[in-house]
Amino acid sequence: MKFANKKIVVLGAGVSGIAVALILQQEGANVILSDTRAREQLRHDVAPLESAGVTLILGEQSATLLSAVDYLVLSPGVSVYHPLVEEARKRGILVMSEIEVAYHLCRVPIVAITGTNGKTTTTTLVGEMFRKAGIHIAVGGNIGEALSQEVRDLLPGSAAVAEISSFQLEGAIDFRPHIAAILNITPDHIDRHRTLENYRATKEKIFARQTPEDFLILNYDDPTVRSMAEKTSSQVFFFSRRQILPSGIFLDGDMLRICWKDQDLVVCSVADMKLFGAHNVENALAACAAAYLYGIGVQDMAAVLKTFAGVEHRIEPVATLGGVTYYNDSKATNPESSIKALEAFEGHIILIAGGRDKNTDLTEFMKLAAEKTDALILLGEAKERFAEAAAKQGVQQIHHAADFPEAVKLAAQLAKPPQVVLLSPACASYDMFNNYEERGRVFKELVRSLT
Ligand code: ADP
Repeated sequence: MKFANKKIVVLGAGVSGIAVALILQQEGANVILSDTRAREQLRHDVAPLESAGVTLILGEQSATLLSAVDYLVLSPGVSVYHPLVEEARKRGILVMSEIEVAYHLCRVPIVAITGTNGKTTTTTLVGEMFRKAGIHIAVGGNIGEALSQEVRDLLPGSAAVAEISSFQLEGAIDFRPHIAAILNITPDHIDRHRTLENYRATKEKIFARQTPEDFLILNYDDPTVRSMAEKTSSQVFFFSRRQILPSGIFLDGDMLRICWKDQDLVVCSVADMKLFGAHNVENALAACAAAYLYGIGVQDMAAVLKTFAGVEHRIEPVATLGGVTYYNDSKATNPESSIKALEAFEGHIILIAGGRDKNTDLTEFMKLAAEKTDALILLGEAKERFAEAAAKQGVQQIHHAADFPEAVKLAAQLAKPPQVVLLSPACASYDMFNNYEERGRVFKELVRSLT
């Protein structure tokens, strides 16, 4: 696909939209960037775009935007159900996502990771393994900078490692990663994809253009993901935490073991890994699969797994004070994620939870809290409903805190070894913070100030 001399409309002036607009203009296209927000509402500086010659059209988006347009490029935040998308298709305009543009600008193999959960952790692990092996890489997509920006300057011999959300896959056309991984599929984002069937079909676009020279890494333990093996023409490489497989990567007792063609290799044991929790064993298996298929040795994989403690805000160890370790899991913005965190510990947890209530069902979460926590400290808008649900499931010690400083102080007063203190809110952060990252950072500062 050629972009030079094409008239291209980019919808959405977020990080990816701005990056891709600039890149397409530099590639010789005639680019219009459109966003419904006014200039003051945009979070990013658009002045460099204007000096590069991009036309900015802010405010109302009408069909006149599409006149004489060749391609419509969607930022990840814009849905394929956007009215202009429908109109563009009617007019025969090719509609694509930012990763599609990235694919056409990229001259090196792409390793692409998708799934409902675990994308960032797995993508980061893969990136670390490649770096450890001395391979020059760019990591991008849903994580870090826009992929189109990251891949452009990569020279032969390097690789692109990309975290791909289903939103970006919606507008994939020729996108063909050499190695693709699908970690899991659970009902999430159904609001945007309308049905689970659509959501699954969108995820399948990651391998739609693969050929027998490419690889598809699939979670054997997830029936929906496993069944995709029948639909691809690429080589399937399974991973499993629950079963010994004849071929692929799996847990054999405590060991991460690879069996593929005539090779039988052990990476390391789960006990060697610095990451916590069964879900992270799955992420590690998937990451090793990608590294292995690229030709990276098990020593490099093991070295990373032995030192990598996780991505910020995901069961992140903060400090150990008086024998009690504090963990920041601010990324857990729903009960399912907090369940993963509780499962990652043996028990004796002082749990800090609450925030903006998403009104999700709390039964399973509080059942597990009754089993695993010694005390529950609640705060934020959700605290009353959480307290009620916790009491109903038999959580013994329930405390209320007015704010984060009070919650951390209370946790420090209560916690004695072998207990741990875990912030895993199971709620959004917007009642007290701008985002979950800010919440996590405030928590970490409060913990560090306890010393
Ligand atoms: P994503 O980028 O897909 O949102 P992350 O790696 O940022 O995933 O992890 C976010 C949260 O999702 C974690 O804190 C954990 O609760 C949960 N999680 C991570 N990996 C998995 C997995 N393999 N299976 C299920 N849940 C997971």
